[in-house]
Amino acid sequence: MRRRGIRKGIWVYITTRRIEFLLSLANDALKTGEEERARSYVKKALRLGEKMNVRLPRRWKWYICKRCYLPLLPPLNARVRFYGGALHITCLKCGGVRRVPLHGKEVKTSQEKGKGVFSAS
Ligand SMILES: [Zn+2]
Repeated sequence: MRRRGIRKGIWVYITTRRIEFLLSLANDALKTGEEERARSYVKKALRLGEKMNVRLPRRWKWYICKRCYLPLLPPLNARVRFYGGALHITCLKCGGVRRVPLHGKEVKTSQEKGKGVFSAS
């Protein structure tokens, strides 16, 4: 039975953890070449976030292709370029481009581009 009085913050925390877990499963599935499975995990994670009114953790938001719902793992299925103060993350599957403006604070030198955006795992 779910009680009504549970504080919202706990649900946000639990949901965030579940989303992260689903997305890490998607990550693994993609690495082993199981695209459909990866896509279904991503969709599940997005739906969960929507239902629970929880936003995706920031580092994950950049990491999903909004067009084909695949996790973007450069250089496996994505290309990351840096121009005009923004990261351009191109999905090599569907060609969708995601722009991530960085406002000059997160990327200091060109060598650091992409660092911190994608976790190494
Ligand atoms: Zn795509």
